[in-house]
Amino acid sequence: MATDQLLASGESLNKRLAEKGLRFTSQRKHIYEVLLSQRDHPSAEEVFTRAKQAKPEISMATVYNSLDALVKCNVIRQVNVDRGAAMYCSNMNEHAHFCCDDCGKVFDVNLKDSPRVPEVDLPVDFEVRSIDISFHGRCSGKCEDCGQN
Ligand SMILES: [Zn+2]
Ligand SMILES: [Zn+2]
Repeated sequence: MATDQLLASGESLNKRLAEKGLRFTSQRKHIYEVLLSQRDHPSAEEVFTRAKQAKPEISMATVYNSLDALVKCNVIRQVNVDRGAAMYCSNMNEHAHFCCDDCGKVFDVNLKDSPRVPEVDLPVDFEVRSIDISFHGRCSGKCEDCGQN
């Protein structure tokens, strides 16, 4: 939470971008704020629609470019669920995702434990860098679309 508040100020985002050799722009800051304001894992298209409300001049290319820069400097992460469009998550705490098969919404699920590599036959010289955990099911009641189920 504190990290988010810290990063919500332009100055720290500036620093994070600079560490990766990326430029701070008002568009990148705006895209970051759009992601912080509604943490519902929007796709790039949805981010574009929301970003346009305050900055009608913003282009889709700028949105893609900004999302890319923000992912690179580790203030947001890209979430891929099945073969659907990539979604963006501004929660940088370790967490899993719960994907609703009915409405397609993705929810953050807190992990009570650090994820461990399950028993798998990994080639000896392979190195695990990160683990993505996602659950699939029905959110039943957590969203309007599924409320009646
Ligand atoms: Zn649902
Ligand atoms: Zn998330």
